[in-house]
Amino acid sequence: MTRAAVKQTYKNRGTNDLVNDQAPDPALKQVAEKYNVGITAAVMDTIKTDANGKHIKHDPVALQYMPDTRELVETPDERFDPIGDIPHSPVKGIVHRHKDRVLFMPTSTCAVYCRYCFRKEKLGAGEYALKKADIEQALDYIENTKDIWEVILTGGDPLVLSAKRLKYILDRLEAIEHVAVIRIHSRVPVAAPDKITDEMCAALKTRKALYMAVHVNHAQEISSAAEDALFKLHQSGCVLLSQTVLLKKINDNADTLEALFRKLVSIRVKPYYLHHADKTLGTSHFRTTIKEGQHITQELRKNASGLCQPTYILDIPGGHGKIPVARTYIRQNGQCSNEKSWNVLDHQDQWHHYEDHQGNEDKN
Ligand SMILES: *Cc1c(COP(=O)(O)O)cnc(C)c1O
Ligand code: SF4
Repeated sequence: MTRAAVKQTYKNRGTNDLVNDQAPDPALKQVAEKYNVGITAAVMDTIKTDANGKHIKHDPVALQYMPDTRELVETPDERFDPIGDIPHSPVKGIVHRHKDRVLFMPTSTCAVYCRYCFRKEKLGAGEYALKKADIEQALDYIENTKDIWEVILTGGDPLVLSAKRLKYILDRLEAIEHVAVIRIHSRVPVAAPDKITDEMCAALKTRKALYMAVHVNHAQEISSAAEDALFKLHQSGCVLLSQTVLLKKINDNADTLEALFRKLVSIRVKPYYLHHADKTLGTSHFRTTIKEGQHITQELRKNASGLCQPTYILDIPGGHGKIPVARTYIRQNGQCSNEKSWNVLDHQDQWHHYEDHQGNEDKN
């Protein structure tokens, strides 16, 4: 879909009360010129309304999609390619940074356009728009690179492809012996659950292990239609994971995240990653500090089941990969030169001494 078409769709879906088209703010128009704007009817239905039936602007779902003039504010530490994908792209549509796995972006279109997206400038008709021949070239690269154990379909959103096209890609991947695992990162199950049709589910049935990482940031996004879509995916054999971006004023407190992760676990979705928001251009209003993220994840650890604990992750700017950044619960005992002496922190914020096993591993 072209950017103009996306904008048209957006307008047609009754979002005028969110963007206030009656008196268009020129700066807001500038935002829409620069970045894709898009929201589905399904998402609109999850946004709370006021006494007059108008969508509430500071609603945690609305804030994720509603264009905001603060997107024009770019801070010096923000980058066009925040996580350094571009230098690691051997062929169009592939990012191969880690030996055992590649990102494969078969489309640059999404069902919705998230304002904080770390690829927001490259979407739509941008960098990741692939032609048929590009897809073949990407598949050939995967086929010819024996180290690739896992293929991560992302984008854009792979589930906006037609079931037929997706099936073609999955069939090709299934036939490649060294590819053991296929992973799909998608926002479609929550943002456009009607796209999870029987035909789509049939296309997703494959002999290879298929993991689906669903992007969701707030429990309010999980409508009953989204639940049904996730159930269908589960029934089709997908192992369901979630990924969440820590976002200021949207989900940056332990209670909100606890409600989200409990909901996910109760519908068979294992929270996988909680991402620290990337330094994408024009997204500073969404970013928390690492310290805040550590505090929130520590609270979550105190209160909720181990199943509700995703790994809190930072993607190091410049293409150095993802690392866990939650606070550490163990440190070497500083008063002691013995490497086997540790201090460990419990859930009541009490430190304990832990003396390591006095084994004979020093021999080797
Ligand atoms: C995020 C990412 C992956 C996947 O990382 P996991 O830690 O396995 O989820 C792989 N390749 C690139 C380039 C990435 O940015
Ligand atoms: S669905 Fe994913 S890729 Fe698309 S705009 Fe949202 S965060 Fe970005």
